[in-house]
Parts: sequence; structure tokens; C-alpha cells
Amino acid sequence: MTTTTAVRTGLALSGVTLTYPDGESRLTALDDVELSVAPGEFVAVVGPSGCGKSSLLAVAATLLRPDRGRVLIDGVDAGALGEQQRTSLRRERLGIVFQQSNLLASLTAVEQLLVLESVRGRRPAAARRRAEELLESVGLAGPKQLRRPHQLSGGERQRVNIARALFGSPSVLLVDEPTSALDHERGAQVVELLAGVTRTHGTATVMVTHDRELLGRTDRVLEMHDGRLTAR
Ligand code: ADP
Ligand code: MG
Repeated sequence: MTTTTAVRTGLALSGVTLTYPDGESRLTALDDVELSVAPGEFVAVVGPSGCGKSSLLAVAATLLRPDRGRVLIDGVDAGALGEQQRTSLRRERLGIVFQQSNLLASLTAVEQLLVLESVRGRRPAAARRRAEELLESVGLAGPKQLRRPHQLSGGERQRVNIARALFGSPSVLLVDEPTSALDHERGAQVVELLAGVTRTHGTATVMVTHDRELLGRTDRVLEMHDGRLTAR
């Protein structure tokens, strides 16, 4: 099966259950989860620490295989793919922004994006232009693009993470607690940015957060509680 020809239909999880080993028994981290996110839709999943938010994103990102249920990325059933095909699917269709900024300390902002290019094979000049445009679109213009992570604020680092996640033109954008290291104002700006990115790039975006104050800019809010996902 090729993963490159599928049209963009976004993300769909159905009947997804995930357990982890827990001593003699198993801990249910995701309990029969249903979730569909269309292209251009910005969905928030809120819930307390430990309710399963990061597990949900790991399954949606095809980094973890669920015990039961299906994960469709642009209609492609990730469970039916081998590891190599799943890696290709991630590279071609998924953008992931993790909770912890995982920028490389020695690289400038623009290089954080270009480092991915070795696996994609665009022409260097075209790749650099695209990296610069993306950074500009998230509010990092000119000399800031040549700064290394320690020379950027927390909010600016998060912007680099978001630009990097967009570099491969993903259909699905998965974002884990993007504001947890930011003050309220900077956090609100990052959520605003994600709303804009969802519109302009047409991504099916899922942001998980425990911060209920930042949900005004999303299209839909879902509640997660003990691994169960419900509409609010
Ligand atoms: P959240 O992101 O909402 O804080 P997580 O998805 O990280 O929640 O965790 C959900 C539950 O699964 C928690 O009880 C957590 O301790 C447990 N858990 C998460 N990852 C693992 C793992 N790799 N092994 C065992 N238990 C885990
Ligand atoms: Mg988490």
C-alpha cells in the first residue's frame, strides 16, 4: 500500500483503547475513544494531568499501537501498516509539537527546520526559502531566524516548534500542552497562532491542554477524563 496518494481527510480514531502494564494488571489510558477531526478544524482536548491526553496524541501520531480500535490518517489505516510505512506516513502527513521543546541547542531557528530536509530531498535553496517563509508566518522574521534556542524566549521557541511541525506540509497537526511553559499572554498568542495555522494550512489540528482559559479560539472542545473522551 502506498501512503502518498491518499486525499486529505484529516484524522479519525474509532474504538481506540490503550493499556499500559501496571504491576500484575493493566492501566487503561484510553477507553474506547472516538475522535474525528476534519481538515481546517481546530479541536481542543482538555482534562487533568494523567487523564490520557499525551497517550491520545501518541496513538494519533502512530507512535503507539492501541490494544483495540483504528487510527485513520487521511483515510489510511495506520494499524494495517508495517513500521517502515508508519514512519513514511508520519513524515508525509503528521506534524507533531511535543510538550517539551526538543530543539537542538547548537542549531539556529532556520536550521531547526532545514535539518529535516535530509530526509525529504527538496532543493536546498527552495527548502531554505520555505523554512524562512514558515518562520516569518509564525512571527519570527529576519535576525531572529538566525538565533539559537538559548537566544529565544519560551514563546519564540514554541513558534519554532510549530513552524518545524508544518515544514512537511502535514494534514494532521498534533500539539501537546503548547502553553505549559508560557505565561497567560504568551500562551494565548500561541493558541491564536495555532488557530491561524489551522486555517491557512488546512490542518486537522488537535491541541491537548489542562488549561481551560485558552479554549476560546478553538472550533470544538472535548473533555478527557480517565481515558474517556466526551463532548463538552
Ligand atoms: P496526560 O498527558 O493527560 O497527563 P498521560 O497520557 O501521560 O496523561 O498518562 C495517562 C496515564 O497513563 C497516567 O496514569 C500515566 O501514569 C500512565 N502512563 C503514561 N505513559 C505510561 C507508560 N509508558 N507506562 C505506564 N503507564 C503510563
Ligand atoms: Mg501529558
